[in-house]
Amino acid sequence: MKKVVKFGGSSLASAKQFKKVGDIIRADKSRRYVVPSAPGKRNDKDEKVTDLLYQCYDAASEGRSYKKILEKIKNRYEEIIEGLNVNLSLDHEFANIEENFVNKVGRDYAASRGEYLNGMIMAAYLGYEFIDAAEVIFFDENGNFEADSTNKELSERLEHVERAVIPGFYGSKHDGSIKTFSRGGSDVTGSIVAKAIHADMYENWTDVSGFLVADPRIIKNPEVIETITYKELRELAYMGASVLHEDAIFPVRKEGIPINIRNTNRPEDKGTLIVESTVRKPRYTITGIAGKKGFCSINIEKAMMNSEVGFGRKVLEVFEDFGVSFEHMPSGIDTMTVLVHQSEFEEFEQSVIAGIHRAVNPDFVEMESDLALIAVVGRGMKASRGTAGRIFAALAHARINVKMIDQGSSELNIIIGVKDADFETAIKAIYDIFITTEI
Ligand code: ASP
Repeated sequence: MKKVVKFGGSSLASAKQFKKVGDIIRADKSRRYVVPSAPGKRNDKDEKVTDLLYQCYDAASEGRSYKKILEKIKNRYEEIIEGLNVNLSLDHEFANIEENFVNKVGRDYAASRGEYLNGMIMAAYLGYEFIDAAEVIFFDENGNFEADSTNKELSERLEHVERAVIPGFYGSKHDGSIKTFSRGGSDVTGSIVAKAIHADMYENWTDVSGFLVADPRIIKNPEVIETITYKELRELAYMGASVLHEDAIFPVRKEGIPINIRNTNRPEDKGTLIVESTVRKPRYTITGIAGKKGFCSINIEKAMMNSEVGFGRKVLEVFEDFGVSFEHMPSGIDTMTVLVHQSEFEEFEQSVIAGIHRAVNPDFVEMESDLALIAVVGRGMKASRGTAGRIFAALAHARINVKMIDQGSSELNIIIGVKDADFETAIKAIYDIFITTEI
């Protein structure tokens, strides 16, 4: 058994957290490859080291005073080293970093030092080999991740290494300069390493016990999702549920390696297992609920629209011309509605309306703002009758007017449009009917 274990910033924010991580790693011999983030927040008011590094670099490269921030960063690491009682000095590293900041080597380099230094501490603490991610993770000159060369190099390098720490979040371009993934990118590194070593499991340790069925800001203590497929995850993540970096799925998905989201502060919890497909029956009919506010709809009406070939294309072309992407497009015989993000659309509103008039000569165009979309997602829906019926009965009971309904042919999700003001009440009603009453 080989496992890759990635630990997020809050799991490595202090010596106390590091110790928990050490215990977790030592509890299972198969946890052989460790991918750390930079130290995150120790409490709500704290700052992430990555953010401090960006601030420090910006100040240094613009000739402003930066020493105070650098001191703050040094202290964060010193505190961890002392608390762990490891024999390691980062003085030389920090001298190097300071010089590079003043010489403006780049913001990506700056940000990457957070995981680089944390990786060094982690390797010393565990007695594992330290492998600089710059030597094994590659980007092309445009900054795009190079999957093939990385996979080759990483798998060759790790073949003979029993246990190693590989810092997350960054790699290098061919000219040697450092490049990072987007924020939260250590998740991606973990996935890449898991693929390269053909891991049996990619464990992603964070500060929650997995994906929650619904947003905890709306539902008090929601249930944790035990098993979720990549497809379901994608649907929920798209609608705002976030725990894992979006790009972390692709490398392992192709290899059929499951991801297990775990909680460093509650290692006894099983967390959420993310898989390609499963015969395991979901605990409830639905897997999760997620949603977003801030949409608007453009309703177009024209008598005999149904017999006009190319009508839809012409309308959508107007949106395309202004670079506005559409989310959903429910239609009737003589009506067609396009749902878009309000913030993206507002700037072009009048031009788009004029464009639609020119393109298809409609009888009238009407707009409605402040709409929310809710996705009810679940592989279990396919096998059970009456899911839609239950959703709409629950919404009717809660006195919510449904503005739009869209069910994909995959029967994996049902999308419901409601007024922004009804958003929270609608999610509560759906959660209650499927989860609270099924427990
Ligand atoms: N430290 C980086 C960030 O804060 C990357 C990560 O934690 O995954 O975004």
